[in-house]
Amino acid sequence: MSHVFHRSLTASYPIACAGDGPYLIDAHGKRYLDACGGAAVSCLGHSDAAVIAAVQQQAATMAYAHSSFFTSEPMEALADFLAARAPAGIDSVYFVSGGSEAVESALKLARQYFVERGQPQRRHVIARRQSYHGNTLGALATGGNAWRRQQFEPLLIDVTHVAPCYAYRDQLPGETDGDYVVRLGQQLEDRIFELGAQNVMAFIAEPVVGATAGALPAIDGYFRRMREICQRHGILLILDEVMCGMGRTGSLFACEQDGITADLICIAKGLGAGYQPIGAVMVSSDMRDTIRAGSGFFQHGHTYIGHATACAAALAVQQQIEQRDLLANVRAMGALLKERLGERLGDHPHVGDIRGRGLFLGLELVQDRATKQPFDPARRLHARIKAQAMQDGLLCYPMGGTIDGLHGDHILLAPPYIIGSRHVEEIVGKLAGAIDACLA
Ligand code: PLP
Repeated sequence: MSHVFHRSLTASYPIACAGDGPYLIDAHGKRYLDACGGAAVSCLGHSDAAVIAAVQQQAATMAYAHSSFFTSEPMEALADFLAARAPAGIDSVYFVSGGSEAVESALKLARQYFVERGQPQRRHVIARRQSYHGNTLGALATGGNAWRRQQFEPLLIDVTHVAPCYAYRDQLPGETDGDYVVRLGQQLEDRIFELGAQNVMAFIAEPVVGATAGALPAIDGYFRRMREICQRHGILLILDEVMCGMGRTGSLFACEQDGITADLICIAKGLGAGYQPIGAVMVSSDMRDTIRAGSGFFQHGHTYIGHATACAAALAVQQQIEQRDLLANVRAMGALLKERLGERLGDHPHVGDIRGRGLFLGLELVQDRATKQPFDPARRLHARIKAQAMQDGLLCYPMGGTIDGLHGDHILLAPPYIIGSRHVEEIVGKLAGAIDACLA
């Protein structure tokens, strides 16, 4: 028996041994097309020579130096790279080792900012139902997925949740996009007034909801409205781009397509593409300047923040994406994948919605297309599709609880930015086969 405390203590996992572009290869030589990048991580595939060389070189030169003593060239260069491309107003970067740490850091930065600005009463966070912000206690409390929270509820800080922008299910018949946005904005503002506007610290949201809702983008105008409400009340906007950022939706930052910027932007996953564990919080100049003029330091920190080898890997990843103009490929292959999914599954009796942006696409499965009734959760359709697809050599990321944490099934696709049309055909063919096999 393995001595590893695996995610599942009853499952047995194949051994991943090698990578070849968008494919992973197991110990038996079986090839799996990675159509989800694990959890939207491996955006350059699994064998990028330039990134591997950068990791090797940094590890051989100066692998790590603790950030309380030193800065490092790769950390400075990566921060310069990101700041130069960041949405307006953002110009510094706090490095961590993953998405949950990025969210925790953002929450604490928001709190410290208000303490230093003489508004210590600001402590409330407003987030959205059906969001996922990570598994550490602060991030878990912030997330709005009932199933993930349930057993840990007694340990979680108090966070207020409002509705997500979920047009497929929640936009009312006859309601225009504009009216739906106004309704959601009103709900946010009602919560702000209930908590006392002067007590609210931050509103946090994923521009395109990933794991818990299946690549769910907001409709046009939603984020501009939320941003405007937050600004009116002096509330910080935290965007969680851990999954949807770093080019996944076709622009380096997902929020570019929503026409907004934020006070804090959390990134991870595609930042290091899995070649090293790394995440970051991108911070507005106003927040940085306030803390610099106040206490002068952020009362936070982890052993591995700004890890030199991780920063070197992430810099190489981002340079590869830019130099090879891979975001153009994300947009082209994303459009092709969506089109081919539509052709193959758009009229499928159990595919209710195909959505997403760039190479970040989701399919919501339903028992009945007309009523949008979900499948019985006891059927665990999502888990069966994951297993079937894997058996067929396709990695995809299905999940249940799409609607309320319990009901609903979706499949998330997030293939590497390097795929071509033959990979699109392989994804669509194998995915459609797995769905049909599990519904037969
Ligand atoms: N935020 C979002 C939007 C995520 O999708 C995730 C992970 O899936 C996280 C935060 C947590 O990131 P990590 O698993 O790296 O801690």
